[in-house]
Amino acid sequence: MKSKFLMKLSLALAVVGAIFLQTSCSTVPVSGRHSMGGLVSDTAVVEMSVEQFEAMKKQFPVSRNPKYNAMLQEVGNNIAMVVGYDILNPDWEFVVFEDPGAINALAMAGGKVGVFTGIFKVAKTKDDLAIVIGHEIAHVSAKHVNERLSKAMIGQGVGAGLAVITGGGGTLAGSAIMSAYGLGSQLGGLGFNRRMESEADEIGLIYAARAGYNPRAAIALWERMAEEGSGDAPPEFFSTHPSHDTRIMNIHALLPKAIEEYELAKSGGIRENIIIIE
Ligand SMILES: [Zn+2]
Repeated sequence: MKSKFLMKLSLALAVVGAIFLQTSCSTVPVSGRHSMGGLVSDTAVVEMSVEQFEAMKKQFPVSRNPKYNAMLQEVGNNIAMVVGYDILNPDWEFVVFEDPGAINALAMAGGKVGVFTGIFKVAKTKDDLAIVIGHEIAHVSAKHVNERLSKAMIGQGVGAGLAVITGGGGTLAGSAIMSAYGLGSQLGGLGFNRRMESEADEIGLIYAARAGYNPRAAIALWERMAEEGSGDAPPEFFSTHPSHDTRIMNIHALLPKAIEEYELAKSGGIRENIIIIE
């Protein structure tokens, strides 16, 4: 017999299936991998994500800490410049949420980025924060949420969704979206898998470097994350991420390319694929 949780999840995904159903394919920026988020409409994901971000701003206290906010705005805007149209219809917004216990951050489709004040325990410098923001935005540009929803819908049977698209569907679809971001409270987070996390590390490191932030900071940052991660409330960065040693090894392998991008950015070099916003 299905548990109540699975029933709710199944229903929510079916609703999402009915709303978002679409076939498309795309290529992931930087890594060049072919995205599998084909069942989910990109536009619908943006709309739902923007809506959920608005809800988050009502649900969580927004921090007015001037230092944290200044740091996030500066780093966020610089990274947004290099991400450009790797993501669909970006209307960038960077919000610090007050929760010193949450070493967590997220980026949502539509260019919505949130960090919790706890992140500043490990992201001490702008370089550190750039690695975190780059990683989160990479989840969006690589369409990991679309892929997660798409796969979950196949698992649940998309067709069933057409029968249930009535009353309260918006809320359930919203819950499914938040689950795919790993933040669902009602349904439990589906989250990203290890392959997605490694891909976000790779793309995020390049974004940070292109925005002029030192990618070498990543090693010490992830070391500190791992130390914090031994606590009892594992944030996004630990739940399904590659094991600590694997992650550090991967980052070391990625560093030469990232440093090259960083040096180029520092010397004022402009890459062809960077969109200059005037
Ligand atoms: Zn991640």
